[in-house]
Amino acid sequence: MTSELPDTLTETARAFIAKQRGAYIDGEIVEGSGGELSTIDPSTGAVIATLRESDAAVVDRAVASAARAYAEEWRDLLPAKREALLHRLADLIEEHAHELSEYDALEGGKPIAYVEAVDLPLAVEQFRYYAGWPTKITGSVVPVSTPGAHVYTQKVPLGVVAAITPWNFPFCQAAIKLAPALAAGNTVVLKPSELTMFSSLRLAELAIEAGLPAGVVNVVVGTGATTGNELVRHPGVRKITFTGSDRTGRLLGSIAGENLIDASLELGGKNPHVIFADADIPKAAAYAATTAFFYSGQVCFSGSRILVERSALDEVVGVLEEHARALVLGAGLSTDTTMGPLSSAQHLEKVEGYLQAAAEGSGSIAFGGKRLPGAGYFLEPTALVGPADDESVVAEEIFGPVVVVQPFDTFEEAIERSNDTRFGLTAGVWTRDAGKAHRFAQSLDAGTVWVNTYADYNAAAPFGGMKDSGNGRDCGPEGLEKYLDTRTIWMSID
Ligand code: ADP
Repeated sequence: MTSELPDTLTETARAFIAKQRGAYIDGEIVEGSGGELSTIDPSTGAVIATLRESDAAVVDRAVASAARAYAEEWRDLLPAKREALLHRLADLIEEHAHELSEYDALEGGKPIAYVEAVDLPLAVEQFRYYAGWPTKITGSVVPVSTPGAHVYTQKVPLGVVAAITPWNFPFCQAAIKLAPALAAGNTVVLKPSELTMFSSLRLAELAIEAGLPAGVVNVVVGTGATTGNELVRHPGVRKITFTGSDRTGRLLGSIAGENLIDASLELGGKNPHVIFADADIPKAAAYAATTAFFYSGQVCFSGSRILVERSALDEVVGVLEEHARALVLGAGLSTDTTMGPLSSAQHLEKVEGYLQAAAEGSGSIAFGGKRLPGAGYFLEPTALVGPADDESVVAEEIFGPVVVVQPFDTFEEAIERSNDTRFGLTAGVWTRDAGKAHRFAQSLDAGTVWVNTYADYNAAAPFGGMKDSGNGRDCGPEGLEKYLDTRTIWMSID
């Protein structure tokens, strides 16, 4: 059932949304008898469509379909054939890039021009990069000290993978999980966030169109507490791959532990973006501004804590403000928009809660801080200068267009304060001194450190977190390895 859809939505997207009922299993739309699940346009608060949540029976059907497709179709498919199918899927994503972008712009409030320019190419790159792997997955011959033995290993898939994705990069995250999981020979049940479902449902349909056997990619829809919970606890699931909050990550890690399966968890970050006074300050400040407010700061690797050597503080804050004032706030589907709304009313309240707490603290608002009037969930891009390290606005991941800017005085202080966080996803450092840059980068407890740049991402470069930012890595060979098991074969050659 569809409700109010913006005029700017194409007929193709409108028709796709109108035909959705719930899950997509074995190449078919499956409604089931779960409760109603509405998705909301965050720029207006209006209902986009109402589907049926996938209940336990639907989740069971999805896992059974994936298990059958694994055993009968996908696991033993010739590597070159799997490669060709993943490339074909990448082709179809490219062909439908605008339509796919529309879903994330509508449900997620993401500026469509950015989704099309950033998210879609990243997703295509995932399928193309991992399409190259099936023909290169090898075991090894093991030189055991046992007479008359020939021992070798095989790298084998795990089976059915439960992929749980968040609302901030719906399509991109689905690709980041599916491409390596499928390349390794697994089949997937994907549960997108209940806020952003359509691009994942369309991806599953495109997988069928590309020629992947029915059941290799299934999508269930629903909230985390209901559908997500049923999926991750299902005994047929052999691996959980998750991107989202550290709170949910902890829970899924413990469920995986009970079931003796592995969970790869890409969680949040409170990422230090450090600017030394000897850096190219205008360039560093421009990067800091862009990456703090990109997608309204709802990005796990957002450079949301900017540490600036004291003499450069005012210049950096000035550039941030200039950038923030130039942002055009609006609906994701509007091509003029450069910053969209927050994802939900509840999330906006949470972000405002951090600002209220900060009002009692030692920082001051340099600009922004107010929510826009109207029904959409818009908050002005905001900078807080000088809050103390132990304030929640500095210590916690806000996941909104709120950046904190803090001065520092020495190299050692910058390292110590950058590491004084429970998170460890990413960090950035700007300096013209190469030795200083290396020393700094190597001292950081972060999965990725960017030097004189920020937020670069490529399917070939491992990405993931240390400390409370999670475990495992997406992208690169590491991103494939986590979807593989090892079988050791001993053979007597006496
Ligand atoms: P956020 O706070 O960013 O929404 P969450 O970690 O709550 O992050 O959500 C990320 C994804 O995890 C979403 O798809 C959500 O539905 C799912 N999720 C949340 N709780 C659970 C759960 N208990 N079991 C399985 N999935 C969950």
